[in-house]
Amino acid sequence: MDGDCATGTAHTKLVDPFGRHVKYLRVSVTDRCDLRCQYCMAEDMTFLPKAELLTLEELDRVCSAFVHKGVKKIRLTGGEPLVRKDVLTLVRRLGRHLRSGELDELTLTTNGTQLTKYAKPLFDAGVRRINVSVDTLNAEKFHAITRRGDLDQVLAGIKAAKDAGLGIKINAVALKGDNEHEFDDLIRWCGDSGYDLTLIETMPMGEIDGDRTDQYLPLSLVRARLAEKWTLTDLDFNSGGPARYVRVEETGRKLGFITPLSHNFCESCNRVRLTCTGTLYMCLGQNDAADLRFPMRVSKDDELLEAAIDEAIGRKPKGHDFIIDRRHKGPAVSRHMSVTGG
Ligand code: SAM
Ligand code: SF4
Repeated sequence: MDGDCATGTAHTKLVDPFGRHVKYLRVSVTDRCDLRCQYCMAEDMTFLPKAELLTLEELDRVCSAFVHKGVKKIRLTGGEPLVRKDVLTLVRRLGRHLRSGELDELTLTTNGTQLTKYAKPLFDAGVRRINVSVDTLNAEKFHAITRRGDLDQVLAGIKAAKDAGLGIKINAVALKGDNEHEFDDLIRWCGDSGYDLTLIETMPMGEIDGDRTDQYLPLSLVRARLAEKWTLTDLDFNSGGPARYVRVEETGRKLGFITPLSHNFCESCNRVRLTCTGTLYMCLGQNDAADLRFPMRVSKDDELLEAAIDEAIGRKPKGHDFIIDRRHKGPAVSRHMSVTGG
């Protein structure tokens, strides 16, 4: 299928071998982070040398090639996207695709620590919604799970985002024994504050210090427990991401469940992920990847880059097969979530 971009050049649209249109690009703009969440990173992480990262201009160039090929939604993530130096320059540049109408949404997933500084400029650049990760409202537990985070700082950031006019969705990873009895508090807080909430199952990505079987909490169990207290109505709503949503009737807010382990969501997958070094992963749970940095760097025009993107989409696999049980304690893929971006 062909389409025309704003410049009038024909660009092949992105359809994978299973007929799924790729319309959603997640971009990890840095593998670095100011926190060390237990399920995401090891305490003592080795980060990439800065010289290996795509420049902001190169990130813009790859993202723009995807936009010309029909991608409608871009999510910046990481690591922590707001610790990448001059990240606002990238956000402002990508904002031009919102203004031209080629892109429907530019958004980001953040841990919230930098939001008091960035919320307003993000809104001004065209961002309208953000996801903020908060696993617990207990300050001590928050500090323990993130190994260094200050809950008050994050809550002040979320408040600044709300005041700036940004829509907010809270992400919480469901962790057995850590926050499993706090979902009622999170639902109540989100209801009172006007935020949606998504619960996420831990995914077996990258070596961490602990044992993942100790962390894994199936969301089917969480949902059954929540249904004893709250009235949950299934919704048809699809945010373009992998979550299944219900409405919590008592608060009127949406509650999402991302269940890569207990329910595989691959059949509707419209996403690919770009790392900060220019590697494209066609599936979060598989190791196959395509290098876009080389074809981009060898020529000034985008012909080779676009050909590499087409070739990669032609290899998008049908799905992943994450398993966490006593026999499969190691990671399903060796890279951390902070490399590919959550
Ligand atoms: N630093 C930002 C943040 O924390 O929101 C963005 C990157 S983070 C990798 C994106 C999301 O992935 C977060 O909501 C985080 O909780 C989630 N995440 C990280 N590691 C995960 C894992 N092993 N399983 C499930 N979710 C994970
Ligand atoms: Fe950092 Fe986000 Fe990973 Fe936590 S989940 S360590 S905030 S990248």
